[in-house]
Amino acid sequence: MSVVSPDDTAMARVVLVEPDSPAERAGFLVGDELASINGEQPRDILEYRTLVDSDEIAFEIERNGLRLDIDVEKSVAEPLGIEVQSAVFDEVRTCDNHCEFCFIYQLPPNLRKSLYLKDDDYRLSFLYGNYTTLTRFTEADLERVITEKLSPINVSIHATNPAIREEMLRNRRGASSLRWLSALLEVGTEVHGQLVVCPGINDGDVLDQTLADIFDKYNQLTTVAVVPLGVSKYSTEKRMRAHTLAEAQAVVDIVDQWQKLFVESYGRPVVQASDEYYLMAQRPFPSRESYGDVPMYEDGIGMARSFEAEFTGVVDTGIGTEAGFFAWVDAAPAEGYRAPRTTTTNDGASSVTLRPRKTAPVGILTGALGAQVISPLIAEIDRDDVRVITVENEFFGGNVGVAGLMVGADLQRVLAAEPEGHRYLLPDVCLNRGVFLDGLSTSDLPRPVEVIPTDGVALRSALALDTARNTKESVNLRSKEGAQS
Ligand code: SF4
Repeated sequence: MSVVSPDDTAMARVVLVEPDSPAERAGFLVGDELASINGEQPRDILEYRTLVDSDEIAFEIERNGLRLDIDVEKSVAEPLGIEVQSAVFDEVRTCDNHCEFCFIYQLPPNLRKSLYLKDDDYRLSFLYGNYTTLTRFTEADLERVITEKLSPINVSIHATNPAIREEMLRNRRGASSLRWLSALLEVGTEVHGQLVVCPGINDGDVLDQTLADIFDKYNQLTTVAVVPLGVSKYSTEKRMRAHTLAEAQAVVDIVDQWQKLFVESYGRPVVQASDEYYLMAQRPFPSRESYGDVPMYEDGIGMARSFEAEFTGVVDTGIGTEAGFFAWVDAAPAEGYRAPRTTTTNDGASSVTLRPRKTAPVGILTGALGAQVISPLIAEIDRDDVRVITVENEFFGGNVGVAGLMVGADLQRVLAAEPEGHRYLLPDVCLNRGVFLDGLSTSDLPRPVEVIPTDGVALRSALALDTARNTKESVNLRSKEGAQS
């Protein structure tokens, strides 16, 4: 036992000790901090996992200001039985870009501090699917990616023209940092790219050239997601605005054209536009089959068709939107987004005591974009007792309409105008451990809500629909004609 050195930092704190696990038997307690494992101090969950994958582990821990040694014996494959507070133990590498379109700059004031953290940490890309611009990537990082086989990595490309990329990131290193993309692809790392398209800046000819460069130089990219920028009412950037109808249609056309070339030349689509683009462009979504196994689901690509297929009982894709936008900043589980999903649905805070009867009329709460996807599906089922309730996002304003950014304040307003005694279904994507982005929870809402997973299977189940029998054989999602009717 020794007294703690004041220089010690970045220790992982234990937040859970599994009963009857090797960790509990060895004497670990919640609150213990891991000073070293087999003489090394892990910087993140990746190093931690490697260090504890052993049959004999010597821990040095800090407890109540004192250092203790704990030795654990277990079989190699046996889980240690502790959970730590976050995936990154040292400082998250923050972003030194200043993108005009950055949504963090567009957040309202006075949210919890962690939401304002701009990260550009490739480890969070690997662990949670966050995007990195690679402007802070180094030779040592590449070395680690290679030796630890860290794959996949998500890279924000935006534009391949160096001057435009530098301008978009407002960072001189933006002009050159795509060299790391080449290096990652050369060593066989699975990389997913993203283009956030800002009208008048990297759409039109710039988008066309970017996709041409990807076709020529970065064609080992597994996928490239093309998504529109989100503009909240708090944006102070004069150039940032929503797309016009013609601009959105042009983006869809350019992406479709390059996708065909990718399929012809490389046998895979690679580039796809987000569902939001098809809604904005008033075009039908591509077929469900064209999305394959929907690799860009978390980018909002193929969600609508997947939801439709699940809701109509055609297929259970087994995927869904993870609960909790910005989940990683709030001490997300150490295993991160890339862990297998559980089937657990409700968070603790969502439990309510006064539940309406199961036969009560149902209101499906969703954002403006989700309503455009779900409303045609509900219109196809023979149920007058089910309605879609659009929750306009006044909290963020602007063109923000995704369900994942619904907040408690908007739900309070909308639900207060709805009758009591009805069932209100809320997708779990807008909650992070029971808390909305504005800090409210479901217990702050004026009506009880049922939190369900954000997928078509869960909605079908909540409505007690018996697979495809309640729906027409084929449901055509929003088309141009349908949108105008
Ligand atoms: S790289 Fe990402 S976090 Fe950093 S300023 Fe740009 S959008 Fe924001």
